[in-house]
Amino acid sequence: MSEWKNILKKPKDLKLFIIHTGFVHMAGNIHVNRKSSKFKSFPKDDRFNPVFAYLVEHPEQGYLLLDTGLHSSFSQSRFGNFGFLLGGVVKTKTEAGMDVVSRLGSINVAPQKISKIVLSHLHLDHTSGLPHFKDNGDLKVYIDPDEIDSGEALFGLFKGYIKKQRQGMRIEPIAYSKNAPPFIHAWDVFHDQSVFIVRTPGHTPGHVSALLNMSGGPLFLTFDVAHRKVNIDETIPTKGDYDQSMASIEAFKVFLKIAPETRVIYGHDPDQLGSLKLLPDYYT
Ligand SMILES: [Zn+2]
Repeated sequence: MSEWKNILKKPKDLKLFIIHTGFVHMAGNIHVNRKSSKFKSFPKDDRFNPVFAYLVEHPEQGYLLLDTGLHSSFSQSRFGNFGFLLGGVVKTKTEAGMDVVSRLGSINVAPQKISKIVLSHLHLDHTSGLPHFKDNGDLKVYIDPDEIDSGEALFGLFKGYIKKQRQGMRIEPIAYSKNAPPFIHAWDVFHDQSVFIVRTPGHTPGHVSALLNMSGGPLFLTFDVAHRKVNIDETIPTKGDYDQSMASIEAFKVFLKIAPETRVIYGHDPDQLGSLKLLPDYYT
């Protein structure tokens, strides 16, 4: 435990750009697991929830992209690259120029400059922007091994997985180091303790979150362990495996006790959106 404290004493000069690529319309109850005792009382208001990609700029190692947001085709068609079935069910809202590649272009980062993408999980709203990078021969896309299996399983479409979005990409299973309490496993992406990918299963079998050891203080990207702040504050798992999600939230809460100064960015929180620094602004 105190290991994290020591690690956080030696931060790196990272920059984090939050790329807001649009919204997905979700029923309020998608943010809460049916098994939660708070399911009935949880606000069920349907909202347009922000969909993000995140760019980490490392002073020596270059760029790392976390998730890819909504594809540019959604600005022309409501089905975008979700296909007719899922595009009919999942409503999106975006505008031309909001997709990840256009936004990166606005700060002069060409897609060829991205050599690593980590996907928090394979749900369609996190992988939709991947095809924008398919001509980048040097790119490796890192995914948790359990999530790779889950994404390849039959009937993945009904779980919100769209294989076509990953077609032709060079996929690498994340190789974790063994122990990272309170988390199950962690991957030190640049081998310098600046960016950690931690296993936080539950929402999906191989869901991961990210911890950035930055000079302005640690910053944690929950992704879909917590769509909204309330998921952490009130220990309410999102949809998925209830026990695993609970364990992931509890692990994160233990981490927050070790490092209470941690800044937290939630996966899809419409109430946090207004207070976030969005690209071209950035966190340090
Ligand atoms: Zn999501």
